[in-house]
Amino acid sequence: MRLLLVEDDPMIGESIEEGLRGESYAVDWVRTGGDVELALAGVAYDLMLLDLGLPGKQGMEVLRAARARGDDFPVLIITARDGTPARVEGLDAGADDYLVKPFDLDELLARIRALLRRRVSRTQSVIVHGNLRLDLASHEATLDGQPVKLSAREFSVLRVLLDNPGSVVSKAQLEEKLYGWNAEVESNTVDVYVHHLRKKFGSDFIKNVRGVGYKIAAAP
Ligand code: CA
Repeated sequence: MRLLLVEDDPMIGESIEEGLRGESYAVDWVRTGGDVELALAGVAYDLMLLDLGLPGKQGMEVLRAARARGDDFPVLIITARDGTPARVEGLDAGADDYLVKPFDLDELLARIRALLRRRVSRTQSVIVHGNLRLDLASHEATLDGQPVKLSAREFSVLRVLLDNPGSVVSKAQLEEKLYGWNAEVESNTVDVYVHHLRKKFGSDFIKNVRGVGYKIAAAP
C-alpha cells in the first residue's frame, strides 16, 4: 500500500511517516499543496492524508482539484482546525474521514485500515482466502490455523495480491506499492518476496504469469 502524506509541520510529519512505515506502508511525504499535484501525476496512491493548513495552496483546494480530476482514492483529513464548519466543508469536498490534531497514532492507523478495506468492500481488517488468514492490523498470518512468519515486505506483497484475487498484478504495480520515493529499489526484489511466499504457502499459491506479473487465484 502506498500512501501520500501532505503535512507542512516537520515534527508531526515525521512522527506520522515513521508510524506508517512501521506498519509496512510505503509513504511519500510532501509539504506543500503544489507538490501534491506532482506526486499525484506520477503515482497511483491508495490513500492520501491531507493537512488543511498548508503554505501556498490550501488543503481544501488540493482536495477539490483531486476530486475534480476524478481521483477516487480515500482522503483522510488531518488538521488542527476542529470547528464543525471546516469538518463539514472537508467531507463535502470529497474527504472520507477527518481526524483532529493532536490525535493518537493508533487511531490514525485504525482509520486508515477502515478506509482501505472499505475500498475493497471488506467489513473486517482480516483477509480470509481459503485456508489462509491475514490480519491487517496485527500483520499475523496463519495457514490452516498455524502461524506463518512474514517480513514487512512479504506482508505487503501478499496483501496487494490478496486485494486483487484472480487478477494479474504486474511487477511494476507491486514495486510501486512497496517503495516510496526515497527507498532504494533493487531489481528482482519482488521475485524474491514471491519466492519466499511460495515457500511459506505452497508453490502453487502465487502464479507467475510470464511477462505480465503475478496472481493469486480467486478465493476457493
Ligand atoms: Ca499545517
